Amino acid sequence: MRLLSFTRGSDDRRLGIQTEDGIRDLTDALGVTDVGQFLAMGASADVGGELLDPATVTLRAPIARPGKIICVGLNYHDHCREQSLEPPRYPMLFSKFTNAVTDPGAEVTRPIATEKLDLECELGVVIGRRASNIGRGEALDAVFGYTVVNDVTMRDLQAEDRQWLRAKGSDGFAPMGPLVVTADELGDPESLRLRSFVNGEPWQDSSTTEMVFDVATIVAFVSRTITLEPGDVIATGTPAGVGHYQSPPRYLRGGDVMRCEIEGIGSIENPVVDAEPRLDDHAVAVGI
Ligand code: MG
Repeated sequence: MRLLSFTRGSDDRRLGIQTEDGIRDLTDALGVTDVGQFLAMGASADVGGELLDPATVTLRAPIARPGKIICVGLNYHDHCREQSLEPPRYPMLFSKFTNAVTDPGAEVTRPIATEKLDLECELGVVIGRRASNIGRGEALDAVFGYTVVNDVTMRDLQAEDRQWLRAKGSDGFAPMGPLVVTADELGDPESLRLRSFVNGEPWQDSSTTEMVFDVATIVAFVSRTITLEPGDVIATGTPAGVGHYQSPPRYLRGGDVMRCEIEGIGSIENPVVDAEPRLDDHAVAVGI
């Protein structure tokens, strides 16, 4: 099953399912307006609905306001190697807020605070049922499906701030979607090709086989201390090839187009725009 959220014109968000014939609109049958609400309700998608031409809808982030966006750092062996770092002994967690959620196709603003904007293509795990202190063997039962997440990052602030709230949690820094592909449809999440492109040029090209901690381990690990709820999203880390570790390093500017793609799930594309400079702002004068 391939679920998505969409709008038509200026209407509110709606829930759809992608079929071979088009997008079936489940909103009226279920009374929910996006994938997040669908999961929170524990609803079934086995209902009828109007069949829509995909060309007539605008795809949105599948979950507009995830209760939690939990991210895993340094979770690919090849990404550790490109930094000459040993893989961590346990999953390194950080988080983003809902301000970071961005729709497919939406502009991502490069803040004036950074000269080193970068992308990170990541497998997003969408939680389907409440999970607290569960074991690894039952962890995948809590997973509803998977989506594509771009963990947009400001490398200069990532280093200077000594923690990652601004560097990774700023407005629009979590493009996600458009599809949530259910776990049964996707199959093994540990053998998927991940790729990212900037202006069509390949940056990352790796596989989830490079993960240090697999999805089951991450979900179980998180649940030991943080109760997972339906609609929560876990971004499971990124492989090698990000701009910062290319030789020479490369960064994103206004006019660039980011694309993140995962085999079996789909792709998300977002243009970058530069923030308007605020020349009367003291913060600019002191270089932040
Ligand atoms: Mg990341």
